[in-house]
Amino acid sequence: MSSDQGLGWAADRMPPTHRAWVEVDLGAIRHNIVAIRRLLKPSTQFMSVVKADGYGHGAVAVARTALSAGASWLAVATIEEGIQLRRAGIDAPILLFGPAICTEEVETLVEYRLQPTVCSLDQARRLSAADLGSIQIHLKVDTGMTRLGVAWQEAQELLSAIRVLPNVTVAGLYSHLATADAIDPTTTLEQFERFAKLVNTLRRQGIRPPLVHLANSAATLTFPDTYFDLVRIGLAQYGLYPSSHLQTVVALRPALSLKARIVFVKTVPPGTGVSYGHTFRTGHRTRLATVSIGYGDGVSRALSNGIDFLVRGRRVRQVGTITMDQCLIDVTDVREACEGDIVTLLGRDGEEQISIAEWVERLKTIPYEILTTLSPRLPRIVCGEAVV
Ligand SMILES: *Cc1c(COP(=O)(O)O)cnc(C)c1O
Repeated sequence: MSSDQGLGWAADRMPPTHRAWVEVDLGAIRHNIVAIRRLLKPSTQFMSVVKADGYGHGAVAVARTALSAGASWLAVATIEEGIQLRRAGIDAPILLFGPAICTEEVETLVEYRLQPTVCSLDQARRLSAADLGSIQIHLKVDTGMTRLGVAWQEAQELLSAIRVLPNVTVAGLYSHLATADAIDPTTTLEQFERFAKLVNTLRRQGIRPPLVHLANSAATLTFPDTYFDLVRIGLAQYGLYPSSHLQTVVALRPALSLKARIVFVKTVPPGTGVSYGHTFRTGHRTRLATVSIGYGDGVSRALSNGIDFLVRGRRVRQVGTITMDQCLIDVTDVREACEGDIVTLLGRDGEEQISIAEWVERLKTIPYEILTTLSPRLPRIVCGEAVV
């Protein structure tokens, strides 16, 4: 299937039977990965971050697409997420962004070949003491994010202590940036310098962890010095920008669309209160359509009366409070709108498009949160590419 085919087929030829669903264009994900990789040296590895079910896109489909588009690593946040990839037959190395704390976790990550993050000698000792053969680990250094990781001043000492432990092999050394999406580069520069200094000090002592990595999407779009051996790409591979000022660097294509159906249409007189709390009251005779999607699907109630949907390629206003399973739109101006019509909440319909930026602004949040709160009850319908 051509990656330029877009999502039109779902509406035109193969209408899904669902009340509401997410469409994922794997061709867009491939395009984004290829575009991002063009920024890198050929030797720089691409780690596809598929935590939180691939940012809501479906981890397995994204991982397969990423690997076939040139990614060589995957990353997850939980052991369960790693197991899901292995059970789907995915063989690529997988980094776990957190440490293993209890014995069961250690056993599981060995069984499924997940490489844990280590931030302390205790964490490394637990892996070593499990005596389950050599476990590959990535040592995480805190250079200023102040979340996970050994303090950068103490990293060298910890690394030396870990290197003599049996059953533990340091496969990677990494850190995470706190403000790479900001316009002001000061903090990123400071973190980069601390990390680079550590890497250079180690190198002078002949210590060279196989994989040194620092950059997330934002740093990859703005700061080539942070690439080291590998970049960890989440949001950008899904076609979104960590911050709007990064849009000029590379042309990405959003991979996700959110759709639902009109399940009922009726006309009401002026002055009619609509939905819970009557937060909207009609000003004139109004044709209302009930759409089968709500906050139980991840469409935040805080968007009520504040966003547009697309019906038959036209923008219409969402009106009234968004309820758990349904919400309403004003289709007075779209006379043809009827039961069964597909409504686009995010994505394109004809010439019109609704981008996640509209929700971001309304909710005062970031695209990450919107994507990862789309409910598992929404089926993920994959298109745009044959998945092997
Ligand atoms: C989630 C995550 C990433 C990916 O971040 P994006 O901004 O989505 O590219 C990279 N590194 C770590 C440690 C993460 O937790």
